[in-house]
Amino acid sequence: MSELDPLPISLIAHTAFCPRRAWLEAAGEQVDSFAIEEGKHAHRNIDAAKNSRPAAQRSVDVSHTKLNIVGRCDVVEHADDGLTVVEYKSSPIRRKWQPTQAMRVQLALQGLCLKDAGRHVCGYRVFFPNSARSVNVDIGAKDEREAIELVTTTREVVTSPTAPLPLVDDPRCNGCSHVAICLPDERNSKPVRKQIRASDPSGETLHLNTPGARASLRRGRVLVSKAGEELASLPVNRIQGVVVHGNVDLSGALTREFLWRSIPVVWCSGRGRVVGFARSASSPNGLARSRQCRGEPGLSAHFARGFLSAKVANQATILRRLGQGGNSSLVSSLRLEQNRLSSALSVPEAVGIEGVCAKLYFGSFPMVLKRHGGYFQSRWPGRTGRGARDPLNSALNYAYGLLLSEVVRACLSCGLDPHIGFVHSSNRNKPALALDLMEEFRPVVADSVVVGAINNGELLPSHFSQTFGDSRILLPGRKALISAFERRVATVFTHPVYRYKVSWRRAIEVQARMVLGVIDGTQPSYEGIRVR
Ligand code: SF4
Repeated sequence: MSELDPLPISLIAHTAFCPRRAWLEAAGEQVDSFAIEEGKHAHRNIDAAKNSRPAAQRSVDVSHTKLNIVGRCDVVEHADDGLTVVEYKSSPIRRKWQPTQAMRVQLALQGLCLKDAGRHVCGYRVFFPNSARSVNVDIGAKDEREAIELVTTTREVVTSPTAPLPLVDDPRCNGCSHVAICLPDERNSKPVRKQIRASDPSGETLHLNTPGARASLRRGRVLVSKAGEELASLPVNRIQGVVVHGNVDLSGALTREFLWRSIPVVWCSGRGRVVGFARSASSPNGLARSRQCRGEPGLSAHFARGFLSAKVANQATILRRLGQGGNSSLVSSLRLEQNRLSSALSVPEAVGIEGVCAKLYFGSFPMVLKRHGGYFQSRWPGRTGRGARDPLNSALNYAYGLLLSEVVRACLSCGLDPHIGFVHSSNRNKPALALDLMEEFRPVVADSVVVGAINNGELLPSHFSQTFGDSRILLPGRKALISAFERRVATVFTHPVYRYKVSWRRAIEVQARMVLGVIDGTQPSYEGIRVR
C-alpha cells in the first residue's frame, strides 16, 4: 500500500485493536476464523443494497477527501433530525454487549465521512444480529480526534517495510483471528504458555490418487468419480490443500474454486516427484517475498545451520529410537557432527558435514526394518535418490514427494516463494526453499512413515515392481504410504521449543512462518525442530 492510496476504515479499526494486526491485513494475511465466518453471515442481508428502504440505506460507500479514507456503512438511517450510522457485528464471544474501541473508531470515521459530504449525523449504533441486540454509542469530539490520530498512525504502520512486533502476554491475542499466523508467543522461541489455535484445525489435505479418476465441483462439494461411478464426495470448505497423484483429472471449475479459496494444488507423478503446483494470485507478504529473492548477506549460512543441524539431530534420534540400542556409537557420531554443524560458517561447510552424516545414517538405515528386513536390506545399494533401483529407495522417494507437497503448501500459505532457497541452489530449477525446509522433517516424518509402514506390514514386497533394474511402487503401496503419511502428519507431539501439543502438519506450517519471520525482520533467528 502506498502513501497516496486511500486507507480503508476497517484497517484503521484494526490498528485500534492492534497495529500488528493492521500490518498483517495490509500484507494480505487473511484467515477464515469462526468469528469472521459469523461476521460474513451477519452481513449477508445487509450487504445487498437492493434491500435498502428510504428510511434505512444499506451498504453506503463513504469517503473523506482530506483524511484520504474510504469505507462502507452497513446501514445509514434517515430521520428528520439527521442520520444514524449503524454497524452490524457478530456477537462477542463473552456476550458482552459493549462496543469495543475498534468499533467506536469505525463509527467515528464513518460519521466524519458523512459530515464531510455535508450531512448531519445525530446518532451511532452497533447491532448484533445473532442476538438481535442494539447498542447506542455515544461518539463525541474526543472520539473523532482519536480516530483522526489513528488514521496517521495506520498510514505509518501499513507503509512500514516491517511488521510491528507482536504484543507480549496480552489478552487481545486470545481473541485475535490472526493469532495462528502472527504467532506472538512463538516469536520469542520460548515455551508458549497458551495452546496454539490453528485457523482451521479440521482442514484436510485431499489426495487424489486413483488413476483415471476425475474430480469436479458440484454444489460446494468435491466429487471424485471414475467411469461414471462416484468414488468420494466431500465439502470443499473442509479442504486446506490438494495433492494430485499421477493420472487424475481436475476439472477447470474445481481448480478455479481452489484458487478462489487460496487452496494450493500440488501435482505429483506416480512415483511421488512433485511436477508442479498452482497458487492463488492473491498471495500475502509480497514485500517479504521480494526480500527472500534478494537474500540478505549471512541468511543462507544461518538457515543452513538451522535446517541441517535439526535434520542430523533427528536422524540420530530416529536411529536411537528404532535401533534398540544397537546404534549407540553411530548415534554419538551423529550428535558430534550435529554440534559441528551448528557452528558451520558457510553453506558449503554445513552441506559437507551433512553429507558425511547422510552416509553414516543411510549406511545403517535398513537395519531398523523388522519385517521383510532381509528383502529390503539385500536390495539396498545405499541412498540413491530419484531413479531408484530398489524398493526401499523407491518408497523413500515417494514419502519425500508427499513431504515436499506438504512443505510447498506451507510455504505458499504464508506467501513465501518455494523456489527461492538458501541451502539448495535455485539454479537447479527445483523448489529450493521447500527442499531446504523439508530437511529437518525428512527423518521424523518421511523416513519414519516408510519404516512404520514396512514394520506394520502395510507396505509389502509385493507392492513393488522390478523391471530392467528399475523399481516402482505400485498403487496399493502408494495408497499404503499416503495413508501412513496422513496419519503421521496428523500425529500430535510436544513441540520441543514451545512445549505445547501440535500436529506435524501444523508444525511444518509454523516453521515456514518462522522462516518468513527471519526474512521479514520480525524474528531474530531460526531454530529447527529437534525431537528427543
Ligand atoms: S495475535 Fe496479538 S500481536 Fe498478533 S495481531 Fe493479533 S492481537 Fe496483534
